[in-house]
Amino acid sequence: MAAQPRKDFEVAIVGGGVCGLTCAVALQKAGVSVRLFEAAPAFGEIGAGIGVGPNAVRVLKDIGVLDTILQKTGEGDLRARGFIYRPGVGEHRAVYTTPVNESEDRGIGMHRAVFLDALVSVVDPTVSHFNKRCVSVTESPANPDRVLLSFLDGTTHETDVVLGADGIKSSVRKYVLGGTEDRLAFSNTVAYRALIPYAALKAAGFKTGLVEAPVCFLGPSKHLIVFPIKNDEIVNVVAFSARYDIPIGAVKLPDGAAWVEQVSREEVKREYEGWGPDVSILIDNMPEKPSKWSIHVVHPPLESYVKDRVALLGDAAHGMLPHLGAGAGQGIEDAYLLARLLSHPQTHTDNIKDVLQVYSQVRKPRAQMVWDRSYRNGRVYDGNGPHGTDWDHIGEDIEGMFHSVWRHDPNRDFEAAVQSLRERGAFPQINGPVSV
Ligand SMILES: Cc1cc2nc3c(=O)[nH]c(=O)nc-3n(C[C@H](O)[C@H](O)[C@H](O)COP(=O)(O)OP(=O)(O)OC[C@H]3O[C@@H](n4cnc5c(N)ncnc54)[C@H](O)[C@@H]3O)c2cc1C
Repeated sequence: MAAQPRKDFEVAIVGGGVCGLTCAVALQKAGVSVRLFEAAPAFGEIGAGIGVGPNAVRVLKDIGVLDTILQKTGEGDLRARGFIYRPGVGEHRAVYTTPVNESEDRGIGMHRAVFLDALVSVVDPTVSHFNKRCVSVTESPANPDRVLLSFLDGTTHETDVVLGADGIKSSVRKYVLGGTEDRLAFSNTVAYRALIPYAALKAAGFKTGLVEAPVCFLGPSKHLIVFPIKNDEIVNVVAFSARYDIPIGAVKLPDGAAWVEQVSREEVKREYEGWGPDVSILIDNMPEKPSKWSIHVVHPPLESYVKDRVALLGDAAHGMLPHLGAGAGQGIEDAYLLARLLSHPQTHTDNIKDVLQVYSQVRKPRAQMVWDRSYRNGRVYDGNGPHGTDWDHIGEDIEGMFHSVWRHDPNRDFEAAVQSLRERGAFPQINGPVSV
């Protein structure tokens, strides 16, 4: 994105995870004044892997961070990464491989912390403020066209535009929803996560190839996603277990219950008792205390990601199940559209509300499509799709799912948004040079 002259407004981002940081990088590169407020004492990510699909890779390249990411992660280059599906029980024969186009479908699998570090390394350190847990968002008492952020430490910050990238438990979402409602729902799915040295698996007799493609081991109400990171030295394992007899949101975790906890390896062993040889090796080689995630989602979907001068992005807007490895990617697409629209030469403080409304109008159908398909894909992997546990035909249920996420050009969102802003009259048709 080309740098634009300075704007007559300032932006504050709440939350410095992958999506908030991507947005900060993109805004900063485009010359928009931005500050970022993070609750934690420093930027940080969990010890796990993450897959970023070609759609999000296009954004990372366009905002100029892809080379830094590849360099820092040591991943070398992008790879066309279609999953190989194997029943988890029995001998794990391959039953389906996601078809990939070598030039179009190139993504990256990496360590989350290293990905975050790469983004941090390109953000101007003076824009980031730590230990700033946002507790409320209100209209500024002094000026109804400004927004007041209040933090747990008693301080406040007044600004023109707020972008809520504060994750699934978002405090900014409460403002957008206009009350005490939070649309936060337990998905009835838990995930056990671990990183395991590939050499240890091989030494234990693990036979399934992981380098050529990530693997999904399928089974009734459970599946495992397995892919190598760090130049194939480490294997990222996520073992899911779900209940399908309970509607999403019908059960709430008890108040104060941890969403992420350390559990015993024995618990995971019990969950996958009787599964095939390579699944057993994976679990035997997990650390003694793998982490267990009770996955929450935003449900029912928000009517809008925007209220007035406040917009949501990433999990705050559309936290979803991870069964297409696409949640962060959707947040990265959000961040890109926001940054391109806010830095557009015709965006001013007077038309900000229209610009944000159009951001929501363009992004919501796409992110919700990915939400719905992620949910559906989980059911398919767990033997609850159209073909049930008929694994030989499971490919018919999976076909096209990833392509609908990956083969999206985020530039199209921008073009559609500008078109819509012109139709509303928020961006006048101008012949000749555009003034700011
Ligand atoms: C098991 C699992 C596997 C996944 N695998 C993938 C994958 O392979 N690919 C993929 O694309 N996605 C994946 N996802 C989804 C992905 O992790 C999320 O979509 C992504 O991390 C969301 O990023 P975010 O920046 O919106 O939120 P977060 O990463 O949650 O960041 C939010 C930030 O805001 C801060 N914050 C929170 N509250 C406040 C506050 N009140 N004030 C200030 N700061 C605050 C937090 O400290 C944090 O830094 C997976 C998810 C799970 C559970």
